[in-house]
Amino acid sequence: VNRPCTRRRFVVRALKLGAVAALGAPLLARCGMDLGEDDDPRAQAEQYDADLRCTDTTGLLEAELKVRVENNYVQISPHEEHYCFNCLNFEEPAEPGTCGACDVVPGPIQPLGWCEAWLEIPG
Ligand code: SF4
Repeated sequence: VNRPCTRRRFVVRALKLGAVAALGAPLLARCGMDLGEDDDPRAQAEQYDADLRCTDTTGLLEAELKVRVENNYVQISPHEEHYCFNCLNFEEPAEPGTCGACDVVPGPIQPLGWCEAWLEIPG
């Protein structure tokens, strides 16, 4: 499953790299994207695999598991517009179709998931 190359994804990359001005053009070129594209989260969600399981918490410490539980992380978001894939805290998977990671919630993260620490991407 290929992840959409969206304006939000671009903004997150730039924010996390902390170099919007310097890296903007190269990132855009790499992304091959149009900044005017549709950013409808529901349409983007259709491009992810809802059957992907990101539940293996083997190796996590008890305190890390607690963070997962306390933030009410779920595999499939109950919201129409808020998902891990469009959360500022999301770390994209190394390979398309695999689990991502999160700056807040430890362990594997389903891109279609959600938790109470969801944070909107500025811009
Ligand atoms: S903070 Fe929550 S919603 Fe955001 S990526 Fe992490 S688990 Fe998903």
